Amino acid sequence: MTTTFPTSLIDRFGRKVDYLRISITDRCDFRCVYCMAEEMTFLPRDQILSLEEIYLLAKTFVELGVTKIRITGGEPLVRKGALDLLQNIGALAGLQELVMTTNGSQLLTAAPILKAANVKRINISLDTLDPQKFKAITRTGDLQQVLNGIDAAINVGFDRIKLNAVILKNRNHDEVGDLVQFAIEKEIDISFIEEMPLGIVDKHDRADAYYSSDLIRVDLAKRFTLIQSTQKTGGPSDYYVIPNTKTRVGFISPHSHNFCSTCNRVRLTVEGRLLLCLGNEHSIDLKEIIRAPNVTSDTIKQVIIDSMEIKPEKHEFNVKEQPVILRYMNMTGG
Ligand code: SAM
Ligand code: SF4
Repeated sequence: MTTTFPTSLIDRFGRKVDYLRISITDRCDFRCVYCMAEEMTFLPRDQILSLEEIYLLAKTFVELGVTKIRITGGEPLVRKGALDLLQNIGALAGLQELVMTTNGSQLLTAAPILKAANVKRINISLDTLDPQKFKAITRTGDLQQVLNGIDAAINVGFDRIKLNAVILKNRNHDEVGDLVQFAIEKEIDISFIEEMPLGIVDKHDRADAYYSSDLIRVDLAKRFTLIQSTQKTGGPSDYYVIPNTKTRVGFISPHSHNFCSTCNRVRLTVEGRLLLCLGNEHSIDLKEIIRAPNVTSDTIKQVIIDSMEIKPEKHEFNVKEQPVILRYMNMTGG
C-alpha cells in the first residue's frame, strides 16, 4: 500500500516551509573573522553527508513542497563534485528556484557551469573594496580574484546577482556608500548583514563590532535616495530601491527586527541535521535516519513532516553575551 503525503510542509504556527538551505561543506578557502576562527578543525568525511545523500534529501524536500533551494557552506564551490550536485538538484521536477551563496573565489571558472546547471540567482560575499582590508577580514582571500568572479557572474547573465556585506564597526562601516556605488555601477543588488553571534570567534569582539542596519541606512541616506520596497521575502531582509538605478539595497537585521512570523525556511547542515531555526538548536538528525538499515523513502518523508512540530516560534540572539548558539555559520549555511 502506498502512503499519500501532503504536498506542502506546514508548521504548528501555520507557516508554510517551502525554502531549504543546504550547507554542502564546512570547508572554505577563506577564514572570515566573523565566521571562523583562524585555526579550524573541519569535520571528517564520514560525518558529513555524501553528495548522494544531499541529493536524496533535496529530492525528498521538493516532493514535500519545497520550491526553492539555496546551496551554501562553507564555500560550496570548494567541495569536489559540487557542480554535478548542483546540476542534479537543478533538474529536480517541482523545484522552481535553485540559488547559491558563494565567496566568489572560484566564480571565474564556475559561473558558466552554474548557469548551465539552472542556478537562477547567486549571492556573492563582498565586505570591502580595499585589498588590504579584504585580506584582513577574510584572512586568506584575494580581492581581485573575487572581483573577477563577480564580473564573470555578470557576464553569464544570472536572473539576479546580489552582494552580501557583513558590516563591522571600525573595519568596513565607512565603506557602505562605496559598496552601494559599486553595486549601482555593476547593476546588481546588495544586502548589508548585521553580524550574528554564531560560534566563538577569536581576536574579534562582537559587541564592539556591532553596527546596526539603522546606522547603515542613516549613512547611506547622506549619499543616496532609498525608497522602501513593499516586497517581502519571508526572511530577515528589508528592501529599498534607489531611483533611476537597477540596484536594490537590502538590510538583514536579525537583531533589530522581528521577521520570524513569516519564516518559510529550514536548513540542512553539513552533518545532516535539519535545523528548524537559525537562532535555536531545535533539530532532527536526518543523517541518522537516512543511514539506518532498510530505511524507506516514506519513513524519511514522515520524519520531515513531523519535524515541523518542533520549528520554534522565534529566534534568540544576543551579541552582548557569549553565543547561545555554538555552531559556526559555515556548518549551518548562512
Ligand atoms: N562562503 C560563502 C560566502 O561567504 O558567501 C557561503 C557561506 S557564508 C557562511 C554565507 C553568508 O554568511 C556570507 O554572506 C557571510 O558573510 C555570512 N556570515 C558568516 N558568518 C556570519 C556571522 N557570524 N554573522 C552574519 N553573517 C555571517
Ligand atoms: Fe568562508 Fe563564507 Fe565563512 Fe567567509 S563567510 S569564512 S567565505 S564560509
